[in-house]
Amino acid sequence: MYDVTILGSGPAGLTAAIYTGRADLRTLVVEGLSVGGQLMITTTVENFPGFPEGVEGPELMDRIRKQAEKFGAEFKLGDAEEIKLDEHPFKVKVSNEWHETRSVIVATGSSSRWLGLESEKKLMGRGVSGCATCDGFFFMGKDVAVIGGGDSAIEDATFLTRFAKKVTIIHRRDQLRASKAMQKKAFKDPKIEFIWDSVVEDILDVNENKVTGIVLKNVKTDEKTTFPVDGVFIAIGHEPATSIFKGKLELDDHGYIVTEGVKTSVPGVFAAGDVQDPRYRQAISAAGTGCMAGIEVLKYIEGEQATGGW
Ligand code: NAP
Repeated sequence: MYDVTILGSGPAGLTAAIYTGRADLRTLVVEGLSVGGQLMITTTVENFPGFPEGVEGPELMDRIRKQAEKFGAEFKLGDAEEIKLDEHPFKVKVSNEWHETRSVIVATGSSSRWLGLESEKKLMGRGVSGCATCDGFFFMGKDVAVIGGGDSAIEDATFLTRFAKKVTIIHRRDQLRASKAMQKKAFKDPKIEFIWDSVVEDILDVNENKVTGIVLKNVKTDEKTTFPVDGVFIAIGHEPATSIFKGKLELDDHGYIVTEGVKTSVPGVFAAGDVQDPRYRQAISAAGTGCMAGIEVLKYIEGEQATGGW
């Protein structure tokens, strides 16, 4: 039996594991299929305190993981497939095996949102990508489009200028959602252009099995145009990974776990990081809530022990 099972191995999950391991709690980290979380597909992180020169996302995760290992956390690859939160101890199924645990920290994060076009699905990996840092290299000297107007879209576009000849940001409004600092950088970049008030209606060309262009609709004029590109990077936000918690934990309208601090609707179950945070979604805020969840688990287990719960 584990004292705590942590679902997720991004900054939230691993920081929680440092705290629970260091408190001598038997800790299992279910790493998920995207080991290390979203920082594994990020380049330089410039805003994580303690790294004045910046640090590469994968290196940061490797360091945090080593720290969690040092304090005794055990790791299991794979996603949590099922969870039972209406019985004590709680039970978590990973790779067809059930694990018993006194408490749970949900730090499953969120994943990329897609446009939902048939052509997007068919051309995935053939010019359509959700990860500029993974696939940018393949577009050396080519023209690419980035869809979205948030920080991710601007970050991706800026990164892609390392490879592409021209990067066009396609946004459905005439104002970016991205932070002013990132906007400024993008507006100054001679390789970045913008198409405003436009949505992608189709990605061409499924018949050729590669991206040759996108069909755009101007939402103000309804005018349709075909814009030639060799690659399309989708950067329109994220969805929380909460499907196994439906009906078991209180979720908000967008599927994020509802928390008070880091407490969920079930005592003994805590949530940390992006899975409960649609607002800040930063590595440092995820790590912060991971720390809080680790401390709350310790208090919860001490409380249960004191009242004879275990
Ligand atoms: P986001 O802030 O939710 O932005 C998503 C963008 O995609 C918005 O501009 C949105 O348009 C657009 N969009 C959403 N659905 C769309 C659709 N179906 N079709 C076309 N466009 C669509 O997501 P994000 O950029 O991934 O950022 C998420 C969080 O991570 C934010 O808090 C951000 O600050 C943070 N972040 C920080 C950094 C950094 O600091 N280095 C880097 C990346 C992300 P509207 O604007 O019209 O809604």
